[in-house]
Amino acid sequence: MTTATLSIDLNAIAANWQALNKMTGCDTGAVIKANAYGLGVDRVAPVLAAQGARKFFVAVAEEGVALRRVLGPGPAINVFAGHMPGDADMIRSAALTPMINSVDQMIAHVEALPGHRFGVQLNSGMNRLGMDPAEWAALRDIALAQNPTLIMSHLACADEPNHPMNARQLKTFREMTDGLNVPRSLAATGGIMLGRDYHFDLTRPGIGVYGGLPFADAMPVVTLDVPVIQVREVATGQTVGYGCAWTAPRPTMVATIAAGYADGLIRALGNGATFTHEGRKLPVVGRVSMDLITVDVTSLTEVPEHLQLIGNYQSVDTVAGFAGTIGYEVLTALGARYDRVYVE
Ligand SMILES: *Cc1c(COP(=O)(O)O)cnc(C)c1O
Repeated sequence: MTTATLSIDLNAIAANWQALNKMTGCDTGAVIKANAYGLGVDRVAPVLAAQGARKFFVAVAEEGVALRRVLGPGPAINVFAGHMPGDADMIRSAALTPMINSVDQMIAHVEALPGHRFGVQLNSGMNRLGMDPAEWAALRDIALAQNPTLIMSHLACADEPNHPMNARQLKTFREMTDGLNVPRSLAATGGIMLGRDYHFDLTRPGIGVYGGLPFADAMPVVTLDVPVIQVREVATGQTVGYGCAWTAPRPTMVATIAAGYADGLIRALGNGATFTHEGRKLPVVGRVSMDLITVDVTSLTEVPEHLQLIGNYQSVDTVAGFAGTIGYEVLTALGARYDRVYVE
């Protein structure tokens, strides 16, 4: 078999959710948008439900429909995009809870689905989704009369604990919601780390559940092992790969392995990235191709069947650092070609 093995540890996912749950005194939800951050909503959602998660979040209604099939009736499925044109049938039939983002969405929702549950998303300063303070002030009493299930907002800088934006958004959120008798949610993974003031009634962790920063104590969830197809000795002065981008400074053993940018290992990984074998770091040489990567394995006495990119020796965030990106992007980019193995 030549496809790389992507192993996803469902026990680590369960443990991470429990650890995040223990960090607060409130309810803990789970964000499983983008196919559970690329890890497979069919396998991840039931594990979180079994741990006790009862409030799930997705980006769009279509994801909510797929998730309802996995979870069955019962758990709340909240949709960040709110109620968009064409969504009414999906929201009704899958019993989704749109997070209403504007007066227009509120009108569309009550006209299409009178009495159907909804939540409210407020803009406390990120300026991405949600109602602005003035818009909320105008709509608030009408919305509250319809019994929203949740009022939420999102933090722009929660992964930087000392950023003044955190306190500013907290203050704005409180001004917009204090005294209303509706459950509130402000914190994603980063907000949980900021402490009790940010927790309110419900948290919405995503990346921390999947083993990524800013949950520094997360258990690793993903392991990626890539088969070695061929090994050759490259003489001093010879080049490797497209564009002759790397020249051997000395005789070098180069392993060609079976994954590339079509598998989500983006070309930006090329410079300074390493694979590992039993903890020993092995530099990538030359450019990442669509299906292949070349690795300097001179330091190994025997070349193994697989080299590892993500696992106990290199976290998702370490690999993200190689490419100048974040763990979220590495996870959600992981391709469809892997042999996915779920550890349970
Ligand atoms: C993605 C997202 C989350 C989860 O964020 P993490 O940083 O992955 O924990 C929570 N709330 C909203 C609105 C989001 O878009």
